[in-house]
Amino acid sequence: MSESSSPTEIVIIGSGIMSATLAVLLKQLDPTKRITVYEAAEELSPEASHGWHNAGTGHAGICELSDTPDLETDGTVDVTKAIDIFAEFEQSLQFWAHAVHSGIIKDPGTFIQPVPHVSFVRTAEQVAYLKARYEGLAAHHFFSSMAFSTDRSKIDAWAPLLTESRDDEPIGATHMTGGTDVNFGSLSRQLLDWLGRQDGCSVKTSHRVTDLKRRPNGGWNVTTRNSISKQRSSRAASFVFVGAGGGSILLLQKAGLPEASGLGGFPIGGQWLVCDNPKVTDRHQAKVYGQALGAAPTMAVPHLDTRIIDGQRKLLFGPFAAWTTKFLHQEGRWTDLPASIKPHNLGTLLKIGATNLDLIRYLLQQGTQSMAARMRVLQEFYPGAKQEDWKLIDAGIRVQAIKKTDGEAGIVHYGTEVLTSADRSMSALLGASPGASTSVHIILEVIRTSFPQLLKGDAGLARIQSIIPTYGIDLVAPSQSDRFSALAAPARDALGLTPTQSA
Ligand SMILES: Cc1cc2nc3c(=O)[nH]c(=O)nc-3n(C[C@H](O)[C@H](O)[C@H](O)COP(=O)(O)OP(=O)(O)OC[C@H]3O[C@@H](n4cnc5c(N)ncnc54)[C@H](O)[C@@H]3O)c2cc1C
Repeated sequence: MSESSSPTEIVIIGSGIMSATLAVLLKQLDPTKRITVYEAAEELSPEASHGWHNAGTGHAGICELSDTPDLETDGTVDVTKAIDIFAEFEQSLQFWAHAVHSGIIKDPGTFIQPVPHVSFVRTAEQVAYLKARYEGLAAHHFFSSMAFSTDRSKIDAWAPLLTESRDDEPIGATHMTGGTDVNFGSLSRQLLDWLGRQDGCSVKTSHRVTDLKRRPNGGWNVTTRNSISKQRSSRAASFVFVGAGGGSILLLQKAGLPEASGLGGFPIGGQWLVCDNPKVTDRHQAKVYGQALGAAPTMAVPHLDTRIIDGQRKLLFGPFAAWTTKFLHQEGRWTDLPASIKPHNLGTLLKIGATNLDLIRYLLQQGTQSMAARMRVLQEFYPGAKQEDWKLIDAGIRVQAIKKTDGEAGIVHYGTEVLTSADRSMSALLGASPGASTSVHIILEVIRTSFPQLLKGDAGLARIQSIIPTYGIDLVAPSQSDRFSALAAPARDALGLTPTQSA
């Protein structure tokens, strides 16, 4: 086994959007940082961040009905969470605009496109809910351009596939320009391509991290295996970021962090229906989100999305959940789930399994349903959909973190959680939502916790505001409406999202 050691080394595991964002933000904040990124797969970003493994929705709280709870008794809808998610997504837009301005990314069209976001509901009860949600959101300056309608001709103008061949039933929709479709895989690869060209930094594919051991004097020994040469190597690191997506839990177990004791993982696979017939794709220019169906977890809320990947325009519908025991799509093994079961998490996993039989039944049923059954779900959105235009592909796998305290609460948790060792020498990301869209917000938390000196004082604030101009500014307060407009517009211009550029 070869060894290399440099005490100031930062090791980042995984090449998804979280790792790429951390690596570039750290190098931008402190150009002396020496960073090595290890990716198990042959290419960069092949898992959850890959363009076809997620829906590419720039989640900004605009269309996702799962971000706003049911009607209150006074007939209003609490829109606080949607407003917060919008503010978090704004930080991502600001960072990506900086990446374009500073030449890290040459062409924003390679990863982000303006696509209107639409919420669509059926039944009088759901229409009343959507109207109240709209009234709550449109009163806030983030969502002032949102429109609501129950008028078929208006909804037809927004998204004609929704109304075509539809029976006469109550329908309602909201529509907002300013939504986005994001190829997080392309974005991650471009960020890491830049990082790999910086002094003291490298990005190594085909390198699986196989072990993490504490060093006696602080920091970590990171062991990797090169899947091409079969060679094992060990490297010292003062800080390790476990951004291994579904693989994070297995790595945390190897590291033996007391903070990770009792943690387990529950994988949920996914599938999409995809259409590339231009006669259909050319007639839909929106991301349309509906309500969760039956026992579906909120992450399985169906949506009909315009996708623009590698310059090609397609439609995506789903996700359909699927039962799996793999933690990663490409680099995972069927033994991942059994291998993750340890004496310290067995009790929690059994208890949670027993109290979530409905969900497990739902996953088994979803994964085995016929194409005709999947088409019936699609036809609730797009009644005129024809089976010959659609094919089924795999989406990414989400590994939901299960903790001891969750024994009573249930199995599927959507929040992303940052887990940090007591000495702050290791940070890991658990969970999957709201996900890639709020990667910058999440990674800023990692930096605040493990690299607080980079953001300290006036110099630190100036440094981070040169990258994210809105950092530290409360854009949510109603009094900040003008300031929000002034800060948001340049970022959207840089990203090619302003209406004149997208027309
Ligand atoms: C079906 C689905 C739909 C989604 N839709 C959206 C959406 O519309 N909008 C949104 O914002 N988010 C969405 N998400 C969530 C989003 O995809 C994830 O939050 C995000 O991609 C996670 O990025 P990551 O960097 O943490 O993980 P990943 O992209 O999975 O990256 C982890 C990397 O680590 C590597 N790795 C694992 N183990 C090792 C090891 N031992 N050594 C070295 N490398 C290793 C893997 O190969 C992988 O490349 C969706 C997710 C799914 C599954």
